[in-house]
Amino acid sequence: MRLHYFFHLFVRRITGRWLALSVALSVGPTTGARAAPAAPTWRAGAATVEITPASNMWMAGFGSRNRPSEGVAQKLHAKALALADAQDGRFVFLTMDFIGVSRSLRQSLERRLAASYQLRPEQFVLTASHTHSGPELREYKLPAGAAESPQAALIPAYRTALEDKLHAVVGEALANLAPARVAYTRARAGFAMNRRRPQPKGNFTDASYPDGPVDHDVPVLRVDAPDGRLRAVLFGYACHNTTLSFYKFSGDYAGYAQEYLEADHPGAIALFLTGCAGDQNPYPRSTVALAQIHGRTLATAVDAALGTTLTPLTGALRSAFSEIDLRYAPPPSRAEFEARLASKDRIEVNHARRMLDQIEKDGAIRASYPYPVQVVRLGNELKLIALGGEAVVDYSLRLKQQFGGPRSVWIAAYSNDVMAYIPSERVLREGGYEAVTSMRNSIHPGPWAPGLEEQIVAKVTELERVTGMAGKATAP
Ligand SMILES: [Zn+2]
Repeated sequence: MRLHYFFHLFVRRITGRWLALSVALSVGPTTGARAAPAAPTWRAGAATVEITPASNMWMAGFGSRNRPSEGVAQKLHAKALALADAQDGRFVFLTMDFIGVSRSLRQSLERRLAASYQLRPEQFVLTASHTHSGPELREYKLPAGAAESPQAALIPAYRTALEDKLHAVVGEALANLAPARVAYTRARAGFAMNRRRPQPKGNFTDASYPDGPVDHDVPVLRVDAPDGRLRAVLFGYACHNTTLSFYKFSGDYAGYAQEYLEADHPGAIALFLTGCAGDQNPYPRSTVALAQIHGRTLATAVDAALGTTLTPLTGALRSAFSEIDLRYAPPPSRAEFEARLASKDRIEVNHARRMLDQIEKDGAIRASYPYPVQVVRLGNELKLIALGGEAVVDYSLRLKQQFGGPRSVWIAAYSNDVMAYIPSERVLREGGYEAVTSMRNSIHPGPWAPGLEEQIVAKVTELERVTGMAGKATAP
C-alpha cells in the first residue's frame, strides 16, 4: 500500500508574488506496480484545435510587413497533451502555432482552467512556436495606420476565440485521459544556426554565424497506448520559426514537422515545444520549400528518436511555477522620453509615448517585470525547465550542463509569457538586437539590467529543489 501525500504550498514572497508549488510525495513499498511491471502507470490524453484566422489579419513577427495577410499556406493549430501519474498528479502541455504568449492570456487561462478543471497554475505550460507567419494581436506592433484598418478590428474577437479554444482543448485532452506508456529520448537536427554574426565595430547582425553557439538536440516524449500504438509525440527544437516572411499564414518549419509526423503516424497528435531559440535562425530561409525541408528534417529526427531505445518514465509528476522580478537597466528620464517625441523615428516616438503614459498612470516607469520560470518533474527520469521570453541558446547549454546528470533535462523557452528577448550575460554585454535594439519596439523601458542570468538560474535551482524534494522518498 502506497501512502500518498499531496501538499499545496503557497508561499508569500517579499515581492508580493505568490509562489505556487505542488508536491506529490509517494512513500512506501510499491506492491501493485512492482507485481505487474508491464501495466501502464500513466494516463494520457491529447487534443487539437484549429486556430487559423477565418479571414486575413495583420501578421506578427516582422516589422517590415506593410499589409495584412493574403491567404493561408498552412493551417495553424493549438494542441494539448495531458498527463496524469498513478496518484492522479496532472500536467498539461499547451502548445500553439503562434507568435507568443501574453501575460494576460496566461492569467485568463489560469483562472478558467482552475475553475473548470481544478488545474493549478504550475500544472500547465502555455507555449508558442513563435511562427512569424501567424496573426498579430499586439496593437503597438502594427505598422503605421494599421490600427484603424478593418483587419485590426478583428483582433479582439480573435483573441477571445483563441482563449476559448485553448480552454476547450485542455478540457478535451483531460477528458481523453486513458492508460498510456510515456518514454523519453532525443535526436539531433542541424538546420538551426546562430544568427549573431559579430561585426568589427562590436555590433551583431542578423546573419548566419556557423561559429556561434547552437543547441541541436531534439528532445522527444513518446506517448503510447497500452497496445503500443503512438498516441502523441511531443518534441522540441531551439530555432526561430522564421524560414518564411511572406503574407500567408503558416506554422513554418515546426508546423510542417507536426503535419508530417501526424501524416506518418495516423491517429497520433504531434506537439512542438520551442527551445532557447532567441538567437537561432533556420538556414537557409525564405521559401515554403525550405520551410518544408526543415520541417521534414525535424520530423525525420523525431522518427529517428522514436526508433531508438527509449527511457520509460516512472514515478510521479511534480511541478513548480514562480515569477521573479527581472530588473531593467535604469531607464531614461521623463525629460528624455519627452524629447524623443520629436524624433522622426516612428518606433521611437511610439515607445516614448507608451513610457510617458506609464508615468502618467503609475507615477513612474516600472523597474522590473514578473518573469515566469517553471520546472516539471516527469517521473524519476526527466525534468522540463520552461523559461519565459525569447531566451538565447546560452541558457539551454548552461542549464543542461548544470541540471543534467542522472536525469535527462529538457529546456523550453517561449513559455507562459513571451515578453521580450532574454539575453544571457554574454549576449547582454555584447549588445546588438537581442540585448538592446529589440527593446525599442516593446512594452519595456529599455534593456534588462545585468545579473538576469544568475537570477534566472537561481530560480531554476530553487524550483528544481522543490520538485526534486519528493524524489528521495519515491520507492525505486
Ligand atoms: Zn523572435
